[in-house]
Amino acid sequence: MTDFKREGSHLASFPPEEKWDDWEEYDPAAWPRRVKKRYSLVPTICFNCESACGLLAYVDKETGQIEKFEGNPKHPASRGRLCAKGPATITQIHDPDRILYPMKRSGPRGGGQWTRTSWDEVLETFGARIRKAFQENRGEEVMYHVGRPGHDFIMERTLQAWGIDGHNSHTNVCSSSARLGYMLWHYADRPSPDHANARFILLLSAHLESGHYFNPHAQRIIEGKMAGAKLAVMDPRLSNTASMADYWMPSYPGTEAAVLLAMAMVILGENRFDAAFVKNWTNWEELEVDGFSSKGQSFDAMIAALKRHYAKYTPEFAEKESGVKAEVIVKTAREIAEAGSRFASHLWRGSSSGNLGGWQTARALVLLHALTGSVGTPGGHNLHAWNKFVPRPYKNPPPQKRWSELLYPQEWPMAMHEMSPLLPHFLKEGRGRIEAYFTRVFNPVWTYPDGFSWIEMLRDEEKVGLHAALTPTWSETAWFADYVLPMGFSSERHDLMSQESYAGKWIGFRQPVLRVLQEREGKKFDYTYQANPGEVWEEDEFWINLSWAIDPDGSMGIRQWFESPYRAGQKLTVDEYYGWMFENSVPGLPEAAAKEGLKPLEYMRKYGAYEVTKDVYRLNEKQVAPADLAGSSVETNGVVTKNGKAVGVMVEGEAVVGYGTPSRKLELFSKTMADWKWPEFALPEYYRSHIHKSAQAASLKKTAENSGSSSESDFDPGYAPRVEWPKDAKGEVFTLLPIFRLPHLIHTRSGNSKFLYEIAHKNPLWVNPTDAQRLGGIRTGDLIKVHTEIGFFVLHAWVTEGLAPGVVACSHHMGRWRLNKEDHVERMSSAWVDLKEVGKGQWKMRQTSGVQPYETSDPDTKRVWWSDAGVHQNLTFPVHPDPVTGMHCWHQMVRVERASADDRYGDIFVDTNLSFAVYQRWKALTRPAPGPGGLRRPLWIPRVHRPEEAAFYMPAEMPSEKE
Ligand code: SF4
Repeated sequence: MTDFKREGSHLASFPPEEKWDDWEEYDPAAWPRRVKKRYSLVPTICFNCESACGLLAYVDKETGQIEKFEGNPKHPASRGRLCAKGPATITQIHDPDRILYPMKRSGPRGGGQWTRTSWDEVLETFGARIRKAFQENRGEEVMYHVGRPGHDFIMERTLQAWGIDGHNSHTNVCSSSARLGYMLWHYADRPSPDHANARFILLLSAHLESGHYFNPHAQRIIEGKMAGAKLAVMDPRLSNTASMADYWMPSYPGTEAAVLLAMAMVILGENRFDAAFVKNWTNWEELEVDGFSSKGQSFDAMIAALKRHYAKYTPEFAEKESGVKAEVIVKTAREIAEAGSRFASHLWRGSSSGNLGGWQTARALVLLHALTGSVGTPGGHNLHAWNKFVPRPYKNPPPQKRWSELLYPQEWPMAMHEMSPLLPHFLKEGRGRIEAYFTRVFNPVWTYPDGFSWIEMLRDEEKVGLHAALTPTWSETAWFADYVLPMGFSSERHDLMSQESYAGKWIGFRQPVLRVLQEREGKKFDYTYQANPGEVWEEDEFWINLSWAIDPDGSMGIRQWFESPYRAGQKLTVDEYYGWMFENSVPGLPEAAAKEGLKPLEYMRKYGAYEVTKDVYRLNEKQVAPADLAGSSVETNGVVTKNGKAVGVMVEGEAVVGYGTPSRKLELFSKTMADWKWPEFALPEYYRSHIHKSAQAASLKKTAENSGSSSESDFDPGYAPRVEWPKDAKGEVFTLLPIFRLPHLIHTRSGNSKFLYEIAHKNPLWVNPTDAQRLGGIRTGDLIKVHTEIGFFVLHAWVTEGLAPGVVACSHHMGRWRLNKEDHVERMSSAWVDLKEVGKGQWKMRQTSGVQPYETSDPDTKRVWWSDAGVHQNLTFPVHPDPVTGMHCWHQMVRVERASADDRYGDIFVDTNLSFAVYQRWKALTRPAPGPGGLRRPLWIPRVHRPEEAAFYMPAEMPSEKE
């Protein structure tokens, strides 16, 4: 037996920070010999999801190479723990197929011919092109489109410095529906649940294994559970998260709001709600419902009206809609009421992202928090803005004056984020063009619905003048770019991040590990790409240099924002950008650094993270600052205003800051929804989704008419677009859940991780055994064909009881493909395909081969034993923009049949003419701007990259109603 004590060794969870500069441990590869290795440990931040967990890079002192990544114990959110994707960073940085140099297209777009170019040439080309567009007043033709942000604020600042409305994001295929539901309640567009202190946790997502901020949250959910909290999971799929729950509620997709409102009705009906909280902290005095108005009425009269209104949401009704047993609904509602202020929950994608009207699920969920008084409390539902800290740089440009209709078109005035999934259709309709397009860690051809419409857009040089894909890996989208610009992974770049992980605030500092280490040893670099592998760069330095290239002499007013705060007129460095913020914008950091004899930047480079504050609760109860109170007045509804702007609200005789909503209270009743033409949605409600069973039945009735409700029920939205099947359509109708995640995969970037792809590389169709029988005795491994509204895909079945009947499911992580066998592609994760346009807008894809072993500098690539890369289902989905939020409603009504002898695994067919027609049908459901006062959008609802207030008003010449 090893005597570690005798050897002077010890067992510890983490290397103590005083030994990070010279850490010694045994080399596991040398086992059973005891060979010591010495490392420098450098903290950075994981870039593989938005949780921003802390990594420690282990740099071998002998070779100067990074050997592995482990958790950073000094990071307050992740606390030294990581999911599989954190340590897998090592395989991404050493992947032999990664892009190492800037590449320029040398043949036709999409032709796959590339030559190496220089960063100087890239900056010159884009600088000149953008400068010309700005000089010709075509700023809207410059667009930045982000997939994985991984930073806070720097891009908004850059685009505002350029004076353009050019920020596009992926959020409308991700989370924007839930965001509107949360926003309408309390201005913050997402929750920060205090899981660790909760008594009851309700998750409407696979949050423990793969949800938003999941590693930092998962460890706290388990802490809460170990301290006695009950866990309930509402998910049609028996996820790993559901398997850990006390209650698994396999709700039929899109019916979750019915279950939540039935729970609310139990709490209301049994008078288990927190009356004092509801009275003080909701805008109940504004409630107008079913002819009842709260004005001049008592609180009790309002509660009676609310009970009358919600009486239809009985547990039995919810059971009929959702399949969740009425007694489970009653039992969990009572347990939630019992948990009271210690009730935490989370909803992010899932129900809200899958369904027409999915945003109402978030509203119905927060109703439970309002009733239990669990908003802002220990163990309750906090606001993300209370737990996220974004320091401000040394100077900030003013907001842009323009409004881009390609981003926020008038049809969707309530869209929480840019209408990015519709970009190809907008360009097809002639709404604009793009002169310079930057896709950044973004692969819409693969991650978005309707990928062939994206290909049609990207290859059209009239529509997209010049396209640079800023990406760490080759991707389906990069293939159609003009330039492919290699950007760094977690240990190759600077970024500052903060997330709402718990009831505190922190910042995490991502840094280029090899540059930082070598600079410590006295070496000097002008740019990070000089220290990174090949010429892999980082965005911060790229944008600073591009801004100088656009405005070399400063005459356009752009360069000033990228000049040093310390050296007048000189180019800003990354050290100066972050150093200034750490010195001036992070409370307590300079003092914490001084205690160790460090400058704030040195402190952040040493530890990689800093906790700004902890135990943040009930910020709504904070008193209005005396400076804001002086000269303020109180409106009749109790809102405290100063110079026409709300600064607080009167609660129990005290002026407190409240929430950021118009009433400064939690808005049970949304006057905004009523004013913006959606009066039927002024309260949290349940309406049937586009994939509800009644809509499935209606789709089977052969009719040319495509609009109108599918039944007379109160719960139909009255406008769900009907799916039109071709006359000879075959197969059984199902709802397809296409958006569940696998815990160890990301999106595009896991494609170059051999560790992660070895763990998972298939996405079969989950089918319940009763449905498998209905389909003629389908068995696991059988080939089946799934028809959508615009095409089909062919894949294997996986027969499982882990899914509610009537529903089929397929993970969205798989189905990577490549058009070239081996050059400029990612071979670890993709099938080599043959892609043909067989008619105008008609696309056919067939796999030539799956994944195969291949020779590279890494011997592991010869050992690849899997051949399956999955099937790319997203290509066959049309866009479904929710008429309110604009969110793509991911769930699909599909027809499933056994594949025929002509079908092969991975076959895909799509008709983009049909996808354009589906887009038109959904667009027809919208209720366009202007809203009150000629506004394009409610002023109080934020935009990520917010223009000045004047831009919120529609110009007189703009058509005010849709054609
Ligand atoms: S949850 Fe996993 S992928 Fe996300 S930041 Fe943390 S370690 Fe990285």
